[in-house]
Amino acid sequence: MTRVAVVGAGFAGLAAAVTLADSGVDVVVYEARDRVGGRVWSQPLDGPDGVGPVIERGAEFVLEGSDEMRSWLERVGLRLVDTGMSYYVREPRWAHGMTVDAPATGTGESVEAVTIEDMRLTASALARLQHEPGVSVADLLDRLDVRPEVAEAVRARIEVSCAWNANDLAASVVDHVASFESAPSHRVDGGNQGLALRLSGLLGDQVRMSTAVTKVEHSAGGALISSVSGVELYDAVILTVPLPLLRDLEIVPPLPLDRREALQRMTMGHAAKAHVPVRGAVATSAVLSVPDRFWCWTATGADGVVVPVLNAFAGSPGAVSALCTNDGTTPWVARLVDIRDDLDLDETSAVVTTWHDDPWAQGAYSAASLSARPGDGDVLAEPLGRLFVAGEHTAGQWSGLMEGALRSGSRAARQVLDAVGAKPGDSRGRT
Ligand SMILES: Cc1cc2nc3c(=O)[nH]c(=O)nc-3n(C[C@H](O)[C@H](O)[C@H](O)COP(=O)(O)OP(=O)(O)OC[C@H]3O[C@@H](n4cnc5c(N)ncnc54)[C@H](O)[C@@H]3O)c2cc1C
Repeated sequence: MTRVAVVGAGFAGLAAAVTLADSGVDVVVYEARDRVGGRVWSQPLDGPDGVGPVIERGAEFVLEGSDEMRSWLERVGLRLVDTGMSYYVREPRWAHGMTVDAPATGTGESVEAVTIEDMRLTASALARLQHEPGVSVADLLDRLDVRPEVAEAVRARIEVSCAWNANDLAASVVDHVASFESAPSHRVDGGNQGLALRLSGLLGDQVRMSTAVTKVEHSAGGALISSVSGVELYDAVILTVPLPLLRDLEIVPPLPLDRREALQRMTMGHAAKAHVPVRGAVATSAVLSVPDRFWCWTATGADGVVVPVLNAFAGSPGAVSALCTNDGTTPWVARLVDIRDDLDLDETSAVVTTWHDDPWAQGAYSAASLSARPGDGDVLAEPLGRLFVAGEHTAGQWSGLMEGALRSGSRAARQVLDAVGAKPGDSRGRT
């Protein structure tokens, strides 16, 4: 029987492992953490009254076109719920109650408001501009004849979503990452991590928790995997660790030069989340803090009622370091209280989650920086004998998303089946 090691029990690793198990392959999943899901982490938000609603400390929105996600959810008996708001449409604000205030002009005078429609029109004008390689989002915005505060709002929205600064963000992201058109936005009923838990449940004790892989030795015939549980031989290995960890993992012999260069060019974006309980009645909302590079929203739950939690996401390295300081203070919560003076926030119960200092992520998700080349993820995704690479960073236009992670895991499993000569099959009853 073919034996395959999968490194990482995030969405990529679990999709790969279950696809292989379906074909009768003996799979072992190594996971460094004491939980599955990786950058998908759903937890109840404890309020003063005890256990509160489930929050997403990592990935939140299941976006348009997430077909692979839908099919995995169907397989494990989970469903999506509508959030009642749109991920794509955010009201731009500069400070509490104001759409634009003094900082936009530096003169102390207030200027004409920036509307959601201003942002939508500017984004579609941006998408129509030609963008040759090497051009950044910031360069592209400079070519538009729009009011500076509108350009700034659009820039903030793109930086937040891409978790990277517009000066170093490839203009091509405007084609697919930065849609400003309203569309339904979903979450998994009960929390996105439920998918990881159910997939892991299908694999049973084939998933080894708290077992970090420290070394991978590969050859034409197989792979030796070193971890705290010893050294074991497999017919193939799929590495799904996040980009910075893949760079640092000891791989013998080392990856060929083209792959190491691709890895060095690729960039990990930075993002953080905050969740604050809300007292009293709440409506759905989505507000972008332009100067702070975060957005915050309230959304409905499975019962169609708005969940009494303000959710917030900050994107780009500067935003994360300014809002989530290391000294234990949380400037972000104060900014949320300021900009959302329409809500009665219980700031004492706020939860802030950072990812750049998480040892098993070292960032949020891959970012389309200018240093990276469009095909770099594909270079990594090419089979290398019996070594295969998956993870959101190898998912092309789906990079940075749960959907990309799942697609990459299924792709790597198919590559393994091709390489070992096994037939894709369906032995779902077995697991
Ligand atoms: C704050 C934030 C918000 C996000 N928002 C969204 C969103 O709204 N929508 C969306 O679609 N996506 C979102 N994402 C992105 C999404 O979370 C990722 O694209 C996806 O979860 C990545 O899955 P993965 O399997 O590639 O990697 P991971 O989930 O990181 O899984 C890799 C696993 O490998 C493990 N590992 C690492 N090193 C080792 C080792 N040496 N040995 C063994 N195991 C190891 C890790 O612990 C981890 O469990 C967000 C991410 C963050 C951080």
